Amino acid sequence: MHDADRPAPGDLRLVQRLVNTLDLEEGTDALSDTWPDSAELASGALSQEDVARVAIFREAVRRLLLAHNGGEVDADAVAALEAFGREASVRVSFGADGSPRLQAAAAGGDEVIARLLAIIAQAAAEGTWERLKVCPADDCRWAFYDFSRNHSRTWCDMKVCGNRAKARSYRARR
Ligand SMILES: [Zn+2]
Repeated sequence: MHDADRPAPGDLRLVQRLVNTLDLEEGTDALSDTWPDSAELASGALSQEDVARVAIFREAVRRLLLAHNGGEVDADAVAALEAFGREASVRVSFGADGSPRLQAAAAGGDEVIARLLAIIAQAAAEGTWERLKVCPADDCRWAFYDFSRNHSRTWCDMKVCGNRAKARSYRARR
């Protein structure tokens, strides 16, 4: 069970939920053509191929979120996201009040990925992206938003992963 499900602000919650479709602890993967957010992210149905692409995108994002938690920036993950970004069709749209917004201009899996990339770019500009992290425990990697004032939260749940890590380093010291 995770205490880390308090959603990230705004649309960034959709990135968090995508990453957490894979539950390493439970060994379940909810990503499919009908995962709960697919309807919010895509205007049409997703093919199996689309879902496979979104899964690759998801794991590249997960590795980047680990770097937000003090890890090394994974060059392969950056290269993968760079490639997704190069292919993404994103446009700038202006709302009735004149405010600009990045929007996806694609269909299917490309629409999902373009939409998520637009959300990530917007979150980076707003300073929320770096607060989206994944738990550093190898068997967890759950995405959570760091609401702490000094951005110092490490574990998805101190009671679970934090204590497990403490017990491991205690055993290693003895
Ligand atoms: Zn954890």
